[in-house]
Amino acid sequence: MELPYAEPFRIKMVEHIYPSTRQQREEWIRQAKYNLFNLRSQQVFVDLLTDSGTGAMSDHQWAELMLGDESYAGASSYYKLKQAIKEIFGFEYFLPTHQGRAAENVLFSVLVKEGDIVPGNSHFDTTKGHIEFRKAQAIDCTIDEAFDTDIEHPFKGNVDPNKLEDVLKKYNDKIRFIIVTLTNNTAGGQPVSLENLRQVRQLADKYGKLVVYDSARFAENAYFIKMREAQYKDWSIRDIVKEMFSLADAMTMSSKKDGIVNIGGFIGFRDRELFRQATVFNIMFEGFVTYGGMAGRDMNALARGLHESTELDYLQYRMRQVAYLGQQLVDYGIPVQKPFGGHAIFIDARKFLPHVPKEEFQAQTLALELYKEAGVRGVEIGTLLADRDPVTGENRYPKLEFVRLAIPRRVYTDNHIDYVATALKNIFDRRHEINHGYRIIYEAPILRHFTVELEPVE
Ligand SMILES: *Cc1c(COP(=O)(O)O)cnc(C)c1O
Repeated sequence: MELPYAEPFRIKMVEHIYPSTRQQREEWIRQAKYNLFNLRSQQVFVDLLTDSGTGAMSDHQWAELMLGDESYAGASSYYKLKQAIKEIFGFEYFLPTHQGRAAENVLFSVLVKEGDIVPGNSHFDTTKGHIEFRKAQAIDCTIDEAFDTDIEHPFKGNVDPNKLEDVLKKYNDKIRFIIVTLTNNTAGGQPVSLENLRQVRQLADKYGKLVVYDSARFAENAYFIKMREAQYKDWSIRDIVKEMFSLADAMTMSSKKDGIVNIGGFIGFRDRELFRQATVFNIMFEGFVTYGGMAGRDMNALARGLHESTELDYLQYRMRQVAYLGQQLVDYGIPVQKPFGGHAIFIDARKFLPHVPKEEFQAQTLALELYKEAGVRGVEIGTLLADRDPVTGENRYPKLEFVRLAIPRRVYTDNHIDYVATALKNIFDRRHEINHGYRIIYEAPILRHFTVELEPVE
């Protein structure tokens, strides 16, 4: 008999989680103004809000914490991380930051000014936030296939070279760089192919632009390249990563994802001059060059995490678990983004809840149903997240309205996954009874989903 799959680790420490009743959850979510970000973690049973900073560190990473060098300047931890970044990404220069958006803040302080255009593939919300905050504009050049959840395309994160070239032609003098998000979170954790990264590089060279990777899930992207891009099937993950980053000028990183640490980020640079310019802002916003927003111990754990996340058996484990959830939902007939993404399953809320008007936030409505049903916390990746158009002030209705179930790294067992899938099936079976969603009673002008307050539409 063929042996079944088993995780390449065992559990050394456990963390208690808290079951609750439906009645308790209905009260808690009312008090939280129907915003899942306002819940206390103990009011949640299985927390799939994000895979960001929620991973379990390994024994080796915990050991690294004890070796942290907390010197203000020149800490060995800085050099350990510098070495890991050089080895894995090939970048000579780097700046530590406290997380990914801080890396964006520092780098964009150099690269983005008012009136600029930043083309890319479905920019992440904080990336777009940092662009628009500087009165510049992000233009999405993702391939059209990404916006149909039924189309099976192996690289739905890809940049459409024609769309990109049109933008480069039209706004040439307003563009300093192209940003490529690996994997593409907003489009469903979808990867970008190496072929596509090469096309982006060629266009960037043709028009004299820089290429920056938003690299939070670079290792998952590399795994997809190995699995789906025939010519790389025998390459190691490390070699694929090296090849990917050889085509970029700089990277921003949220280490809370494929760094498998709880906080941290960095910027990687090929060019000394750009590094020097960014250093000025890093010292102002983050901290001195050799720690910039991170404790020495955290830099140590990150250096180790970057190595662990680029191990094939780790990535196999991770991708299998995400697909295990996705496949159960597909078997129940639940509409999800296909092929399954790297870090999360994205449920197509527009298809799941067709009776809820789009003005009443379909994905948020589904995410709230899931919490009330089972204490499972997902997140809306839809109209609330898309904010209002800065010019017209109208809601932006994105092409896709998702509930994202993000799987923390090395945290939950397959039994938790079964629990989540069953909760969703229960809701799916009664979906025709759900006709109304929610309306906004408070919202912030930017990144409103974090603090929005809602009430049910009766
Ligand atoms: C998480 C993330 C960011 C922002 O990083 P933080 O560490 O949350 O500040 C940027 N881009 C992508 C693609 C991300 O997933």
